[in-house]
Amino acid sequence: MRPGTVYLVGAGPGDPELLTLRAAKLLAEAEVIVYDHLVSAPILELGASGAERIYAGKERGNHTLSQSELNQLLVRLARAGKRVLRLKGGDPFVFGRGGEEVEALAAAGIAFEVVPGVTAACGVAAYAGIPLTHRDYANSCLFVAGHLKDGSVDLDWDSLARPGRTLVVYMGLLGLPTLCRELVIHGLSAATPAAIVQHGTTASQRTVVGTLATLPQLAQAARLGPPTLIIIGEVVRLQAKLAWYEKGAVEAGAEIGLERAQALAR
Ligand code: SAH
Repeated sequence: MRPGTVYLVGAGPGDPELLTLRAAKLLAEAEVIVYDHLVSAPILELGASGAERIYAGKERGNHTLSQSELNQLLVRLARAGKRVLRLKGGDPFVFGRGGEEVEALAAAGIAFEVVPGVTAACGVAAYAGIPLTHRDYANSCLFVAGHLKDGSVDLDWDSLARPGRTLVVYMGLLGLPTLCRELVIHGLSAATPAAIVQHGTTASQRTVVGTLATLPQLAQAARLGPPTLIIIGEVVRLQAKLAWYEKGAVEAGAEIGLERAQALAR
């Protein structure tokens, strides 16, 4: 690691074993680790014991540092000659504002590197047993952000509501009822399979499966908490067969079968 450089590193979705080798190496070498709330505790423990750890926040409605304060902090640490690890959940360039942070570093003339991570869509789908582009069901997959800064949902519904397309919705829990309703209004069948996964790739992973008609209610009844990821499309059918990670760990009653959910939707 070079002094005076900021390493923008993806920590993956939660399971520490999903870190890249490069991320693990940088964690062990960093002098300062600036992390956000999606970075799991076992991952932070991999940092050198003497490293300074700075929490940068970013929970919904609870921003500890503003984005510009954070950018300034990174610039200041680098100018002081530190080896700085900016650690973010998932991949730093997928809905993580990592782009804004390296723009600020570039503007200030600070050296930086970007290390990709396993984004929630890939990690969570794998552990939930939902192959995002299984060719019997899907030929494209779209990652979208489920809510805007002000909490509203405003997406290009026509481009989302296409057959043969898997949708992965980040930050979608609050907007779930709107999301499901609009997709049906724009042409998807109300019986389209849909899943929501809480705390994917960790011991508290929980998946609730339903349809566009039933998922909002099921998610509410299951009292899921963030972070959650929503997956919509025919590929979700495979979860019933392929859910290897949660097998045996799903609490009775937390999940209802797709067949029953579809019967309810009819
Ligand atoms: N850069 C991150 C995404 C940041 S946006 C990445 O590439 O994964 C934060 C959103 O990511 C959360 O609201 C949630 O929708 C999703 N997310 C991140 N980790 C998750 C996890 N372990 N389980 C479920 N969703 C997760």
